[in-house]
Amino acid sequence: MTFEDLKLIPSILKALKDKNYTEPTSIQAKSIPLILNREDVLGSAQTGTGKTAAFAIPIIQHLANDKQKQSGKRRISALVITPTRELAIQIGENFAAYGKYTTITNTVIFGGVNQRPQVNILKKGVDVLIATPGRLLDLMNQGYISLRDVDYFVLDEADRMLDMGFIHDIKKILSKLPKKRQSLFFSATMPKNILGLSQQILINPKKVAVNPVSSTAETIQQFLYTTNKQDKSKLLLHILKNPEIGQALLFSRTKHGANRIVRNLQKKKIDCAAIHGDKSQNQRQKALKGFKAENIRVLVATDIAARGIDIDRLRYVINYDIPNEPETYVHRIGRCGRAGEEGTSISICEPEENVYIRDIERLIKQKIEVVSENPFPQTDKPMNTTEKKAMEKEKQRKKQEFFANRNKKRGSQNPGFKRKKR
Ligand code: AMP
Repeated sequence: MTFEDLKLIPSILKALKDKNYTEPTSIQAKSIPLILNREDVLGSAQTGTGKTAAFAIPIIQHLANDKQKQSGKRRISALVITPTRELAIQIGENFAAYGKYTTITNTVIFGGVNQRPQVNILKKGVDVLIATPGRLLDLMNQGYISLRDVDYFVLDEADRMLDMGFIHDIKKILSKLPKKRQSLFFSATMPKNILGLSQQILINPKKVAVNPVSSTAETIQQFLYTTNKQDKSKLLLHILKNPEIGQALLFSRTKHGANRIVRNLQKKKIDCAAIHGDKSQNQRQKALKGFKAENIRVLVATDIAARGIDIDRLRYVINYDIPNEPETYVHRIGRCGRAGEEGTSISICEPEENVYIRDIERLIKQKIEVVSENPFPQTDKPMNTTEKKAMEKEKQRKKQEFFANRNKKRGSQNPGFKRKKR
């Protein structure tokens, strides 16, 4: 199938040619005709499948056709909500790329940055608004945004949206949308609560499914190093000595962990940067840009910050820890080997994580190849229940000690002051 077969307008076909897309991906081939036919769509697809273009292209086509009948100031005719700033920015870039030979405009809004530049753009009028839920509601409440004219509504990454606690925000947004609209709903997984939400949004939807969450893993070469907890950082340096590993996206479960890994790599003069929730939007953008420009070899990310990051031709993903949810593993490794490129994942597993590997292998229905050439093999055993309890207790004690000391220090630095009597 070609894009021409999908009856796209010439301006979009030209933009797709510029992107060197030769044929639609599976989700695009299935969704685009339905969306052009004004059906509501329930799409089961994750990032990496070409899902953004699957909704952006037909929406641009609708808007370009609608435009011929409209005049006056631009109003928000299409609204896309998505859970993270990174995803929002990427969706905005997609709309701009596919719509570059049309007159359709888009803007992206998200929290964590000054709202003024966003408000200034909104005041001028825009056709497509891509937003994270919090900032959208905030600007709606301040009267800068009206959803009155929305004809096309997309809820992207619905499962992640609920994971991140956005359900109330979404419901508030839904209550402000016109009843008459076309709605598209995308989620990587479709548990009951997600289906329930979709039923509140969609009318007689057509279902489209590609790549259930366990199947992306089949196209990526996966390797596993088992080691001891204290050897992980040395093992990572050993792995990175391999010149074949150019750039890699490395996952860390925690923000502190990510910072620690960056410090260790920097000591060895390996160009790297971290992106996670404690980094400012500017720092994150700078890191991502540096990585895309290949100035950074290792980008260290937490799961939420990395969600949806779209790096063309990324070959390597490194799991510095093993996620306890097997789906997270599949999402992580799905960052590489996208759109037909080769991908390799390397996982570093300490004894306590051995059980997670078993869960992952069950989900992906395959064994992950263990690398035998490993100078730091796993020799420790996972803790038994008594040892685990003792460790938790010790952790708790250390935490309390830390906070007690901090409060003491703060108290002595800031002894308070007496109010002057008036
Ligand atoms: P997405 O699932 O929307 O995050 O897209 C994943 C990647 O596939 C992005 O880098 C897109 O630019 C790319 N892509 C989307 N559609 C196509 C296509 N038809 N041919 C080649 N690459 C594509």
